[in-house]
Amino acid sequence: MNSKESNQPIKGLTYCIRCCTPETQEGVTFDDMGICTACRSSEEKMHIDWSEREKDLRRILDEAKEKSGANYDCILPISGGKDSFFQAHVLVNVYKMKPLAVTFSHNWFSETGFYNLQLCLEVFNLDHLQFTPARGLVNKLAKKSLGVIGDSCWHCHSGVGAFPLQVATKFKIPLLIWGESIAENDGRSSYQCQAMKFDRDYFNKVSAKLTAEEMVDSNISEKDIHPFKLPSYKEIDETGVWGLHLGDYIFWDEERQTEFIRDTYGWRETEMEGAYKGYKSAECIMAGMHDFTCYLKRGFGRATWQASVDVRNGLISRKEGFALVKKHDQERPGALDYYMSITGFSEEEFYKYINDKKLNEISDLEIPVRQRDHINAEKTVPFVQQIIEKHLWKPDPRTLTKK
Ligand SMILES: [Zn+2]
Repeated sequence: MNSKESNQPIKGLTYCIRCCTPETQEGVTFDDMGICTACRSSEEKMHIDWSEREKDLRRILDEAKEKSGANYDCILPISGGKDSFFQAHVLVNVYKMKPLAVTFSHNWFSETGFYNLQLCLEVFNLDHLQFTPARGLVNKLAKKSLGVIGDSCWHCHSGVGAFPLQVATKFKIPLLIWGESIAENDGRSSYQCQAMKFDRDYFNKVSAKLTAEEMVDSNISEKDIHPFKLPSYKEIDETGVWGLHLGDYIFWDEERQTEFIRDTYGWRETEMEGAYKGYKSAECIMAGMHDFTCYLKRGFGRATWQASVDVRNGLISRKEGFALVKKHDQERPGALDYYMSITGFSEEEFYKYINDKKLNEISDLEIPVRQRDHINAEKTVPFVQQIIEKHLWKPDPRTLTKK
Protein backbone atom coordinates (compact mmCIF):
# COMPACT_ATOMS: atom_id res chain seq x y z
CA MET A 1 0.00 0.00 0.00
CA ASN A 2 1.36 3.42 -0.82
CA SER A 3 -0.05 6.90 -1.21
CA LYS A 4 0.06 6.83 -5.02
CA GLU A 5 -1.81 3.60 -5.63
CA SER A 6 -3.75 3.53 -8.85
CA ASN A 7 -7.32 3.77 -7.59
CA GLN A 8 -6.77 7.07 -5.80
CA PRO A 9 -9.41 9.65 -6.78
CA ILE A 10 -7.18 12.48 -8.01
CA LYS A 11 -4.07 11.43 -9.88
CA GLY A 12 -0.98 13.23 -8.64
CA LEU A 13 -2.32 14.06 -5.18
CA THR A 14 -0.64 12.55 -2.11
CA TYR A 15 -2.95 10.80 0.36
CA CYS A 16 -2.45 9.55 3.91
CA ILE A 17 -1.26 5.95 3.65
CA ARG A 18 -3.86 4.85 6.16
CA CYS A 19 -7.08 6.73 5.29
CA CYS A 20 -8.30 8.80 2.30
CA THR A 21 -7.13 12.22 3.51
CA PRO A 22 -5.20 14.21 0.89
CA GLU A 23 -2.34 16.62 1.48
CA THR A 24 -4.61 19.52 0.47
CA GLN A 25 -6.83 19.30 3.57
CA GLU A 26 -6.28 22.48 5.53
CA GLY A 27 -3.94 22.09 8.51
CA VAL A 28 -3.15 18.44 7.82
CA THR A 29 0.40 17.15 8.20
CA PHE A 30 1.80 13.70 7.53
CA ASP A 31 4.38 12.05 9.78
CA ASP A 32 7.49 10.19 8.54
CA MET A 33 5.36 7.11 7.91
CA GLY A 34 2.91 9.11 5.78
CA ILE A 35 0.11 8.99 8.37
CA CYS A 36 -2.09 12.06 8.70
CA THR A 37 -2.84 14.17 11.78
CA ALA A 38 -6.44 12.96 12.00
CA CYS A 39 -5.36 9.28 11.99
CA ARG A 40 -2.86 9.99 14.77
CA SER A 41 -5.50 11.93 16.66
CA SER A 42 -7.92 9.00 16.44
CA GLU A 43 -5.23 6.76 18.00
CA GLU A 44 -4.87 9.28 20.83
CA LYS A 45 -8.63 9.13 21.30
CA MET A 46 -8.43 5.40 22.05
CA HIS A 47 -5.85 5.92 24.79
CA ILE A 48 -7.63 8.68 26.67
CA ASP A 49 -9.14 7.88 30.05
CA TRP A 50 -12.67 8.96 29.16
CA SER A 51 -14.09 8.23 32.59
CA GLU A 52 -11.67 10.82 34.05
CA ARG A 53 -12.67 13.31 31.38
CA GLU A 54 -16.34 12.70 32.12
CA LYS A 55 -15.71 13.52 35.78
CA ASP A 56 -14.17 16.83 34.71
CA LEU A 57 -17.24 17.55 32.62
CA ARG A 58 -19.60 16.82 35.50
CA ARG A 59 -17.62 19.12 37.78
CA ILE A 60 -17.63 21.94 35.19
CA LEU A 61 -21.36 21.63 34.58
CA ASP A 62 -22.16 21.45 38.30
CA GLU A 63 -20.16 24.62 38.84
CA ALA A 64 -21.93 26.35 35.96
CA LYS A 65 -25.33 25.41 37.43
CA GLU A 66 -24.32 26.75 40.80
CA LYS A 67 -23.00 30.03 39.42
CA SER A 68 -25.88 30.68 37.03
CA GLY A 69 -28.43 31.23 39.80
CA ALA A 70 -31.77 32.10 38.20
CA ASN A 71 -30.22 32.56 34.74
CA TYR A 72 -29.69 29.87 32.07
CA ASP A 73 -26.85 27.46 32.87
CA CYS A 74 -25.30 27.66 29.43
CA ILE A 75 -25.84 28.44 25.77
CA LEU A 76 -26.46 25.56 23.42
CA PRO A 77 -25.83 26.64 19.83
CA ILE A 78 -28.14 24.43 17.75
CA SER A 79 -28.86 23.88 14.10
CA GLY A 80 -31.02 20.81 14.60
CA GLY A 81 -28.24 18.74 13.03
CA LYS A 82 -27.15 15.45 14.56
CA ASP A 83 -24.47 16.99 16.79
CA SER A 84 -26.61 19.68 18.36
CA PHE A 85 -29.51 17.25 18.80
CA PHE A 86 -27.19 14.90 20.67
CA GLN A 87 -25.76 17.81 22.68
CA ALA A 88 -29.29 18.72 23.76
CA HIS A 89 -29.84 15.12 24.90
CA VAL A 90 -26.60 15.11 26.90
CA LEU A 91 -27.13 18.48 28.54
CA VAL A 92 -30.83 18.24 29.31
CA ASN A 93 -31.45 14.56 29.94
CA VAL A 94 -28.08 13.39 31.26
CA TYR A 95 -26.73 16.42 33.16
CA LYS A 96 -30.03 18.16 33.93
CA MET A 97 -28.82 21.52 32.65
CA LYS A 98 -31.11 24.38 31.66
CA PRO A 99 -29.59 25.70 28.42
CA LEU A 100 -30.78 28.55 26.23
CA ALA A 101 -30.91 27.14 22.71
CA VAL A 102 -29.52 29.59 20.16
CA THR A 103 -29.73 29.22 16.39
CA PHE A 104 -28.11 31.30 13.73
CA SER A 105 -30.20 30.38 10.71
CA HIS A 106 -28.41 30.39 7.36
CA ASN A 107 -31.91 30.72 5.94
CA TRP A 108 -31.19 27.64 3.83
CA PHE A 109 -33.06 25.13 5.99
CA SER A 110 -34.07 21.95 4.24
CA GLU A 111 -37.46 20.42 5.02
CA THR A 112 -35.77 17.63 6.99
CA GLY A 113 -33.61 20.15 8.82
CA PHE A 114 -36.59 22.30 9.72
CA TYR A 115 -38.36 19.25 11.13
CA ASN A 116 -35.28 18.17 13.13
CA LEU A 117 -34.84 21.62 14.68
CA GLN A 118 -38.49 21.89 15.71
CA LEU A 119 -38.38 18.32 17.05
CA CYS A 120 -35.30 19.17 19.12
CA LEU A 121 -37.03 22.16 20.71
CA GLU A 122 -40.15 20.13 21.50
CA VAL A 123 -38.47 16.96 22.73
CA PHE A 124 -36.05 18.73 25.08
CA ASN A 125 -38.49 21.49 26.03
CA LEU A 126 -36.02 24.23 25.12
CA ASP A 127 -36.33 27.99 25.25
CA HIS A 128 -35.01 29.14 21.89
CA LEU A 129 -33.62 32.26 20.25
CA GLN A 130 -33.10 32.32 16.49
CA PHE A 131 -31.62 34.93 14.22
CA THR A 132 -32.43 34.77 10.50
CA PRO A 133 -30.79 37.18 8.07
CA ALA A 134 -33.06 38.53 5.33
CA ARG A 135 -33.27 36.62 2.05
CA GLY A 136 -31.84 39.52 0.05
CA LEU A 137 -28.88 39.85 2.39
CA VAL A 138 -28.18 36.10 2.29
CA ASN A 139 -28.22 36.19 -1.51
CA LYS A 140 -25.90 39.20 -1.66
CA LEU A 141 -23.43 37.68 0.80
CA ALA A 142 -23.53 34.28 -0.91
CA LYS A 143 -22.58 35.97 -4.17
CA LYS A 144 -19.66 37.88 -2.70
CA SER A 145 -18.58 34.90 -0.60
CA LEU A 146 -17.54 32.80 -3.60
CA GLY A 147 -15.07 35.34 -4.88
CA VAL A 148 -13.55 36.19 -1.51
CA ILE A 149 -13.40 32.90 0.40
CA GLY A 150 -14.06 30.36 -2.35
CA ASP A 151 -17.35 28.97 -1.05
CA SER A 152 -20.93 30.20 -0.87
CA CYS A 153 -21.28 30.21 2.89
CA TRP A 154 -19.52 33.18 4.50
CA HIS A 155 -22.74 34.33 6.20
CA CYS A 156 -23.18 30.94 7.86
CA HIS A 157 -19.53 30.50 8.91
CA SER A 158 -19.59 33.99 10.35
CA GLY A 159 -23.07 33.94 11.89
CA VAL A 160 -22.69 30.64 13.76
CA GLY A 161 -19.60 32.13 15.37
CA ALA A 162 -21.01 35.57 16.13
CA PHE A 163 -24.64 35.07 17.15
CA PRO A 164 -24.12 32.73 20.14
CA LEU A 165 -21.42 35.12 21.42
CA GLN A 166 -23.78 38.09 21.04
CA VAL A 167 -26.42 36.22 23.02
CA ALA A 168 -23.85 35.15 25.64
CA THR A 169 -22.79 38.74 26.29
CA LYS A 170 -26.29 40.27 26.09
CA PHE A 171 -27.92 37.64 28.33
CA LYS A 172 -24.87 37.28 30.59
CA ILE A 173 -24.56 33.54 30.06
CA PRO A 174 -20.81 32.82 30.14
CA LEU A 175 -20.67 29.15 29.12
CA LEU A 176 -21.12 27.99 25.51
CA ILE A 177 -21.26 24.27 24.79
CA TRP A 178 -20.44 22.89 21.36
CA GLY A 179 -20.38 19.25 20.26
CA GLU A 180 -17.65 17.53 18.33
CA SER A 181 -14.05 18.10 19.43
CA ILE A 182 -11.91 20.11 17.05
CA ALA A 183 -9.46 17.20 17.25
CA GLU A 184 -12.04 14.90 15.65
CA ASN A 185 -11.23 14.34 11.97
CA ASP A 186 -9.77 17.77 11.62
CA GLY A 187 -6.03 17.90 11.76
CA ARG A 188 -5.78 21.36 13.27
CA SER A 189 -5.85 20.24 16.87
CA SER A 190 -5.24 17.28 19.13
CA TYR A 191 -7.05 15.79 22.12
CA GLN A 192 -4.06 16.70 24.28
CA CYS A 193 -4.66 20.45 24.01
CA GLN A 194 -8.30 20.32 25.07
CA ALA A 195 -7.83 23.03 27.68
CA MET A 196 -7.23 25.59 24.95
CA LYS A 197 -8.02 29.14 25.90
CA PHE A 198 -11.39 30.30 24.60
CA ASP A 199 -10.89 32.04 21.29
CA ARG A 200 -13.39 34.72 20.31
CA ASP A 201 -12.09 34.76 16.74
CA TYR A 202 -12.05 31.01 16.17
CA PHE A 203 -14.80 30.89 13.53
CA ASN A 204 -13.33 33.85 11.68
CA LYS A 205 -9.96 32.17 11.51
CA VAL A 206 -11.02 28.69 10.46
CA SER A 207 -14.09 29.14 8.33
CA ALA A 208 -15.31 32.70 7.75
CA LYS A 209 -11.76 33.91 6.92
CA LEU A 210 -12.98 37.50 6.56
CA THR A 211 -14.42 39.60 9.38
CA ALA A 212 -17.82 41.26 8.97
CA GLU A 213 -16.11 44.62 8.52
CA GLU A 214 -14.01 43.21 5.68
CA MET A 215 -17.15 42.21 3.75
CA VAL A 216 -18.33 45.82 3.38
CA ASP A 217 -18.24 47.18 -0.17
CA SER A 218 -20.37 49.36 -2.46
CA ASN A 219 -23.11 46.71 -2.41
CA ILE A 220 -22.87 45.51 1.21
CA SER A 221 -23.31 48.22 3.85
CA GLU A 222 -22.19 48.59 7.48
CA LYS A 223 -25.83 48.09 8.44
CA ASP A 224 -26.01 44.88 6.41
CA ILE A 225 -23.12 43.26 8.24
CA HIS A 226 -24.16 44.38 11.72
CA PRO A 227 -25.60 40.93 12.68
CA PHE A 228 -22.25 39.32 11.94
CA LYS A 229 -20.16 41.49 14.24
CA LEU A 230 -18.47 39.82 17.17
CA PRO A 231 -18.85 41.34 20.63
CA SER A 232 -15.80 43.34 21.74
CA TYR A 233 -13.05 41.71 23.82
CA LYS A 234 -14.23 43.94 26.68
CA GLU A 235 -17.80 42.58 26.49
CA ILE A 236 -16.46 39.01 26.31
CA ASP A 237 -14.30 39.61 29.39
CA GLU A 238 -17.07 41.28 31.35
CA THR A 239 -19.35 38.26 30.95
CA GLY A 240 -16.41 35.86 31.29
CA VAL A 241 -17.45 34.04 28.12
CA TRP A 242 -15.79 30.71 27.52
CA GLY A 243 -16.70 27.49 25.79
CA LEU A 244 -16.12 23.77 25.64
CA HIS A 245 -16.68 20.91 23.22
CA LEU A 246 -18.48 17.87 24.65
CA GLY A 247 -16.35 15.71 22.37
CA ASP A 248 -13.30 16.58 24.49
CA TYR A 249 -14.98 15.05 27.55
CA ILE A 250 -17.09 12.16 26.29
CA PHE A 251 -16.13 9.57 23.68
CA TRP A 252 -17.56 10.91 20.41
CA ASP A 253 -18.93 8.40 17.93
CA GLU A 254 -21.11 10.19 15.41
CA GLU A 255 -22.34 7.00 13.79
CA ARG A 256 -23.69 5.57 17.05
CA GLN A 257 -24.98 8.94 18.24
CA THR A 258 -26.93 9.38 15.03
CA GLU A 259 -28.50 5.93 15.43
CA PHE A 260 -29.34 6.78 19.02
CA ILE A 261 -31.14 10.08 18.31
CA ARG A 262 -32.91 8.54 15.32
CA ASP A 263 -34.19 5.52 17.22
CA THR A 264 -34.89 7.29 20.51
CA TYR A 265 -36.30 10.61 19.39
CA GLY A 266 -37.19 10.35 15.70
CA TRP A 267 -34.38 12.53 14.32
CA ARG A 268 -34.28 12.11 10.54
CA GLU A 269 -31.54 11.67 7.97
CA THR A 270 -31.97 12.67 4.35
CA GLU A 271 -30.24 12.31 1.02
CA MET A 272 -27.20 14.59 0.97
CA GLU A 273 -25.51 15.71 -2.24
CA GLY A 274 -21.83 14.85 -2.50
CA ALA A 275 -22.01 12.50 0.47
CA TYR A 276 -22.80 8.86 1.05
CA LYS A 277 -24.16 9.40 4.55
CA GLY A 278 -27.42 11.21 5.16
CA TYR A 279 -26.69 12.84 8.46
CA LYS A 280 -23.96 15.42 7.99
CA SER A 281 -25.32 18.99 7.64
CA ALA A 282 -28.75 17.52 6.85
CA GLU A 283 -30.27 20.85 7.90
CA CYS A 284 -28.87 22.78 4.96
CA ILE A 285 -29.84 22.60 1.29
CA MET A 286 -26.46 24.08 0.30
CA ALA A 287 -24.18 21.60 2.07
CA GLY A 288 -23.50 19.79 -1.20
CA MET A 289 -22.64 23.09 -2.83
CA HIS A 290 -20.21 23.95 -0.03
CA ASP A 291 -18.51 20.58 -0.32
CA PHE A 292 -18.39 20.77 -4.12
CA THR A 293 -16.48 24.07 -4.00
CA CYS A 294 -14.03 22.46 -1.58
CA TYR A 295 -13.61 19.60 -4.06
CA LEU A 296 -12.92 21.94 -6.97
CA LYS A 297 -10.39 23.98 -4.97
CA ARG A 298 -8.67 21.25 -2.99
CA GLY A 299 -9.46 18.01 -4.80
CA PHE A 300 -11.62 16.48 -2.07
CA GLY A 301 -15.18 16.85 -0.78
CA ARG A 302 -17.48 15.47 1.91
CA ALA A 303 -17.27 11.84 0.81
CA THR A 304 -13.50 12.00 1.44
CA TRP A 305 -14.10 13.05 5.05
CA GLN A 306 -16.68 10.34 5.53
CA ALA A 307 -14.61 7.62 3.91
CA SER A 308 -11.55 8.63 5.97
CA VAL A 309 -13.54 8.31 9.20
CA ASP A 310 -14.96 4.94 8.14
CA VAL A 311 -11.50 3.65 7.19
CA ARG A 312 -10.09 4.81 10.54
CA ASN A 313 -12.93 3.07 12.34
CA GLY A 314 -12.32 -0.15 10.41
CA LEU A 315 -15.74 -0.10 8.73
CA ILE A 316 -14.40 -0.09 5.17
CA SER A 317 -11.04 -0.60 3.47
CA ARG A 318 -9.09 2.32 2.04
CA LYS A 319 -9.78 0.98 -1.46
CA GLU A 320 -13.53 0.92 -0.80
CA GLY A 321 -13.17 4.42 0.62
CA PHE A 322 -11.57 5.69 -2.58
CA ALA A 323 -14.36 4.13 -4.65
CA LEU A 324 -16.98 6.00 -2.58
CA VAL A 325 -14.98 9.21 -2.88
CA LYS A 326 -14.91 8.94 -6.67
CA LYS A 327 -18.62 8.25 -6.83
CA HIS A 328 -19.76 11.16 -4.63
CA ASP A 329 -17.13 13.93 -4.51
CA GLN A 330 -17.16 14.27 -8.29
CA GLU A 331 -20.90 14.83 -8.68
CA ARG A 332 -22.17 18.25 -9.68
CA PRO A 333 -24.74 19.14 -6.99
CA GLY A 334 -28.27 20.24 -7.86
CA ALA A 335 -27.80 23.04 -5.32
CA LEU A 336 -25.52 24.73 -7.85
CA ASP A 337 -28.67 25.56 -9.82
CA TYR A 338 -30.16 27.26 -6.77
CA TYR A 339 -26.89 29.11 -6.17
CA MET A 340 -26.87 30.41 -9.75
CA SER A 341 -30.50 31.48 -9.40
CA ILE A 342 -29.81 33.64 -6.32
CA THR A 343 -26.54 35.14 -7.54
CA GLY A 344 -27.16 35.56 -11.24
CA PHE A 345 -23.88 33.77 -12.00
CA SER A 346 -23.72 31.59 -15.08
CA GLU A 347 -22.13 28.18 -14.72
CA GLU A 348 -19.13 29.50 -16.63
CA GLU A 349 -18.72 32.37 -14.18
CA PHE A 350 -19.02 29.99 -11.24
CA TYR A 351 -16.21 27.80 -12.58
CA LYS A 352 -14.10 30.85 -13.34
CA TYR A 353 -14.35 32.13 -9.75
CA ILE A 354 -13.66 28.74 -8.28
CA ASN A 355 -10.71 28.08 -10.59
CA ASP A 356 -9.13 31.28 -9.33
CA LYS A 357 -9.33 29.78 -5.83
CA LYS A 358 -7.85 26.42 -6.78
CA LEU A 359 -4.73 25.64 -4.73
CA ASN A 360 -1.45 26.24 -6.53
CA GLU A 361 -0.15 22.79 -5.72
CA ILE A 362 -3.00 21.17 -7.64
CA SER A 363 -3.38 23.75 -10.40
CA ASP A 364 -2.13 21.26 -13.02
CA LEU A 365 -4.19 18.33 -11.80
CA GLU A 366 -7.42 17.29 -13.41
CA ILE A 367 -10.43 17.52 -11.10
CA PRO A 368 -13.14 15.46 -12.82
CA VAL A 369 -16.83 16.45 -12.53
CA ARG A 370 -19.83 14.27 -13.37
CA GLN A 371 -23.52 15.03 -13.69
CA ARG A 372 -25.72 13.43 -11.03
CA ASP A 373 -27.75 10.53 -12.39
CA HIS A 374 -30.85 11.45 -10.40
CA ILE A 375 -32.52 14.42 -8.70
CA ASN A 376 -31.83 14.66 -4.98
CA ALA A 377 -34.65 13.36 -2.78
CA GLU A 378 -34.31 16.41 -0.51
CA LYS A 379 -35.28 19.48 -2.51
CA THR A 380 -32.42 21.95 -2.89
CA VAL A 381 -34.66 24.99 -2.35
CA PRO A 382 -35.07 26.55 1.13
CA PHE A 383 -37.98 24.92 2.93
CA VAL A 384 -39.61 28.26 3.76
CA GLN A 385 -39.74 29.05 0.05
CA GLN A 386 -41.22 25.62 -0.64
CA ILE A 387 -44.03 26.36 1.85
CA ILE A 388 -44.72 29.78 0.35
CA GLU A 389 -44.73 28.32 -3.14
CA LYS A 390 -47.13 25.60 -2.03
CA HIS A 391 -49.66 28.01 -0.51
CA LEU A 392 -49.37 31.00 -2.81
CA TRP A 393 -51.83 31.85 -5.61
CA LYS A 394 -53.96 28.80 -5.18
CA PRO A 395 -57.71 29.34 -5.37
CA ASP A 396 -59.57 28.44 -2.22
CA PRO A 397 -61.57 25.26 -3.06
CA ARG A 398 -64.48 26.46 -0.80
CA THR A 399 -64.88 29.56 -2.98
CA LEU A 400 -64.90 27.42 -6.12
CA THR A 401 -67.67 25.12 -4.93
CA LYS A 402 -69.89 28.10 -4.00
CA LYS A 403 -69.92 29.38 -7.55
ZN1 LIG B 1 -5.09 9.42 7.72
